[in-house]
Amino acid sequence: MSQPPFNPDKINFLEQCGFLIAVVGGIDESNSGDSEVRKISYNSAGWQAFRLADNKENLAVTDLFSANDANKLNRLLESMESRVDKQDQKSSSITLQTNDCEHWLECRIALKIIEVEQSTTGHTEENNTTKESPKLSNSAFLLICSDVTESHKKAEEHALLSELATTAGSVLKIGYWQLDIATQALYWSDEIYDIHQVDKATYKPEVESGLAFYHPDDVDIIIQHVRAAIHEGIGWTCEQLRILTHKGEERFILTSGNVVLDNAQKPVRLFGILQDITEKEKTYLERDFLATALREATVGMVVADADKRVIWANSSFERMTGYSLEEIKGGKLGPVLQGDKTDRNTVQLLSEKLGQGQAVRTRILNYHKSGAPYWNELSITPIYKDGKLAYFFAVQNDVTAEVEAKQELEKLNLSLEQQVEKRTLDLAKANFKLQQQANIDHLTQCLNRRTLGDTLSALTKEVSKQGSQMALLMIDIDYFKSINDTYGHQAGDVVLQSIAIKLKKLLRSEDYVFRMGGEEFLVIMSHLEKDQSYKVAERIRSEVSEMTINFEQHSIAVTISIGLFSYNAEIAPEKAIKQADNYLYQAKAMGRNKIVTS
Ligand code: GH3
Ligand code: MG
Ligand code: MG
Repeated sequence: MSQPPFNPDKINFLEQCGFLIAVVGGIDESNSGDSEVRKISYNSAGWQAFRLADNKENLAVTDLFSANDANKLNRLLESMESRVDKQDQKSSSITLQTNDCEHWLECRIALKIIEVEQSTTGHTEENNTTKESPKLSNSAFLLICSDVTESHKKAEEHALLSELATTAGSVLKIGYWQLDIATQALYWSDEIYDIHQVDKATYKPEVESGLAFYHPDDVDIIIQHVRAAIHEGIGWTCEQLRILTHKGEERFILTSGNVVLDNAQKPVRLFGILQDITEKEKTYLERDFLATALREATVGMVVADADKRVIWANSSFERMTGYSLEEIKGGKLGPVLQGDKTDRNTVQLLSEKLGQGQAVRTRILNYHKSGAPYWNELSITPIYKDGKLAYFFAVQNDVTAEVEAKQELEKLNLSLEQQVEKRTLDLAKANFKLQQQANIDHLTQCLNRRTLGDTLSALTKEVSKQGSQMALLMIDIDYFKSINDTYGHQAGDVVLQSIAIKLKKLLRSEDYVFRMGGEEFLVIMSHLEKDQSYKVAERIRSEVSEMTINFEQHSIAVTISIGLFSYNAEIAPEKAIKQADNYLYQAKAMGRNKIVTS
């Protein structure tokens, strides 16, 4: 393989220019003139800039530049070569993307005819033939490159925004403007010229004359906003400012601006949107939505290509989502911003509408890079270019506070309803309890006489209907007065309570125990044959007589007398009670601790 015909050391002086220098050799003839294999030499600046490996001789154009741009360069070199015989050594200039796709180099190219020292090899014949006239192998290109990545990116962004401003602006009826703070160069999209009723051909937008369009009463407001933006980096949104157009018409406009900061947090550019809201029916987006979206200039903007891959996003979008443009560029946003709780139907709707090339506006739960969810009011508009879908332009706004306030209110309303419901239930329970308590004897927790009449009537009816038997047990404690007298009234109370407990224990849950007053109880047992009820009565009597009731240091023994009246409900309640009472009286007379029945 032949050496590259150029010794980079010979052009060291070029380094003084401060440029990155590389040299592209002529076509390597040993490789059948294929332009893809142009060899490259370079000086130390080129070496450093490209961080090249130490195999200088094997480098080709494609080792330095992206495939696309290597082709571009080759084509340019070919065209320059085609003019070599005319001694046309005019230089050309081209911007190329490096192989890592991260940098752009502006290359100035000059074709030089080089005196090459011939090597003393065996190819004399051949060399003689080739030496007759200047050949490509004797020529080389000087590439003087400088890194223009930053300005290239800016130019790209500017071109994109300008295009969007014209295409998107006419769809959205929103004008886009941009101001370079250093140069004061002001850009207006066509919409803004229209709003101001000035001719694009004759009017050149400038900050001063632009501000002069504002109504005298409103101009100070916008001036203050612009100042705050430049000095403090704060964006703005004004909903109801007036301008006086070139033709003298008063128009209401909605204006929103924001600031682009450089790495040192210094504002470098202002940009914003302007919408004529005088006749709001005309506007594609409703004013209230825009007002919400633009509030506090937190409106995020994203541009994606027809394949929905992100091309550009503004800094508000970056703030809102936590993702930098670098992170999301080239990718789709859906999977990045949507999460667990994002409504699938909304996602479906978005995908369907956009798939059909339609505009869509919705609220969707998105997730910040940190994982925090936020409500995104999203409006996406497809932008067509030459009849073909070219971009999606999305405006988004964080409406979490509004949604949460609404949810909070709904929750509050709901909880109020729940509270009322609970209160009503509590009240009903309390009423029931109160009613019950009114019917219950505090000392023994047995029923008092209040409901005796009703209960007995109801049971009588029921038993009579079924033709079964019921029983009344009138119970009285024997010599109760002497218990009070001997051990005190409190001891008497304890005895009453103990007897009540014993009664409930020995009775069925459907039986009733009333405290009739003093030391007298009435038990009602329904649907029970006479012998069965007698057995119960006997059991009560005997178990009570075996009880020892402890009070302080005393063990108190007690007996009861029972009047048992078993009947088949043919007798009126009062009479039946009287009958049971009679039997009790007889039991007392018979010496107590007895049951008397019919
Ligand atoms: P008998 O065997 O004839 O039934 O005699 P007794 O002493 O049990 O009957 P008497 O009617 O003479 O006495 C009932 C006593 O019950 C009178 C009253 O002071 C007492 N007494 C009534 N209610 C209560 C009460 O709630 N607590 C207490 N400790 N005593 C009560
Ligand atoms: Mg008694
Ligand atoms: Mg009594």
